[in-house]
Amino acid sequence: MHDDGRYDDPRVNRPEGADPDPVSRETVHRMWSTGGHPTIHPPERAPAERREPPAVGAARPVPESYVPPPAVPPGPDGRPPNAPDGRATASVRRNAGAPSRFDAPVTGNPPSVPTQPHPGSVPDPSPVVDATATGAGAIAATATEAAYVSRETPTREEDDPPLAMEAMRAVQILNPSGEVTMPRPERTRVMCVANQKGGVGKTTSTVNLAVALALHGNRVLVVDLDPQGNASTGLNVPHHTGVPDVYDCLIDSVPLAEVAQEVEGIPNLWCVPATIDLAGAEIELVSVVARESRLNRAIEAYPGHFDYVFIDCPPSLGLLTVNALVAAQEVLIPIQCEYYALEGLNQLINNINLVRQHLNPKLEVSTILLTMYDRRTRLADAVEQDVRNHFGDKVLQAVIPRNVRVSEAPSYGQSVMTYDPGSRGATSYFEAAQEIAERGAKEPVSRNA
Ligand code: ADP
Ligand code: MG
Repeated sequence: MHDDGRYDDPRVNRPEGADPDPVSRETVHRMWSTGGHPTIHPPERAPAERREPPAVGAARPVPESYVPPPAVPPGPDGRPPNAPDGRATASVRRNAGAPSRFDAPVTGNPPSVPTQPHPGSVPDPSPVVDATATGAGAIAATATEAAYVSRETPTREEDDPPLAMEAMRAVQILNPSGEVTMPRPERTRVMCVANQKGGVGKTTSTVNLAVALALHGNRVLVVDLDPQGNASTGLNVPHHTGVPDVYDCLIDSVPLAEVAQEVEGIPNLWCVPATIDLAGAEIELVSVVARESRLNRAIEAYPGHFDYVFIDCPPSLGLLTVNALVAAQEVLIPIQCEYYALEGLNQLINNINLVRQHLNPKLEVSTILLTMYDRRTRLADAVEQDVRNHFGDKVLQAVIPRNVRVSEAPSYGQSVMTYDPGSRGATSYFEAAQEIAERGAKEPVSRNA
């Protein structure tokens, strides 16, 4: 890419004077010669019934037809059956001791529970597949995938199963044979999801990667560090004024454990929400002692053990982002496959280098995730090539496509992983999470080493 943002790719830069769109010009000619726009009379239709999505955060009613999964007796060692090395996906209880809806054992492999007919899934994909099954299991798995139809089919809202069932169903659809495991890292990986551009997919990636990893047995904490509180909304965690939030931790030194909330419906996932109070933190932090390392101290003092801590940064390079960079060992940069995507990236990398030199020598850019890839455009291709040439193997092989299910999911207080696990958005985030987990297992990242 040139300094002025142009690409060498002739597919992107048209020669000067070239017809921008010969097809449309032809069409225009035709219209002129026929005396303007043809009059089109649309066929008469009954007005479509308008259906509003449920209010964000609204509780979803449990349908009368809902049949809870039967209790699967634990194996001889007390673990859920079919649990490879005791880490069955989605098998870890949310809160040992405290009764919850997850106290019915949930196996990570496609469980032998009668699957609630899900809106859009025709017919019911509920084969019993053993994780150890090879040929037969794989065939059954393929059948499951083939049978699954995403929500793009019109749905009836009243059929929606409750959140816990959605999570189980998500694992069933994303990982039908149970073969894919997301190995837990040896030490906590604190990942700062940063890019000072807004709308590039920071929050979407944080939420979906966190859910994907949590559904596969990792203990995950999401810290919402953006005053807009989008990550809190996406995980359906209350974050209205008055809710204890990350501001209290940064400014008033309240322990993170006191403000972290369990994410309903997703075992192993917690969220530290952000309320609008955080908007003032950027200024208030200026006069606070050790202002750059407030979040780092809070995370280090957290008594529970997490496999992953994702910090969703605001779209700026201010003190909040600096706090996230000081607290993390890894930076995950989502890059949107669009024309201006690489502009400003230098500034972010410079800031990361400064933080590494002065405040956090362990910090590294470990992961680049390409988001909102539109395969219909050559531009997306060109941006992908550019990013891969520049960042090499830091760029995940998995690329997140532009997918309408991804953008719809937050309005239902869900991640796309549970909202529509068969969509391309969900499967891509699943693959990205798997890559992140495998990389972490290969090269253990040392927080305390
Ligand atoms: P950021 O946190 O970087 O500001 P967001 O994650 O909030 O960006 O994403 C910005 C907007 O783009 C949101 O409305 C989100 O729903 C939408 N979006 C993100 N990723 C995708 C995707 N893969 N396909 C379609 N829409 C997306
Ligand atoms: Mg955001």
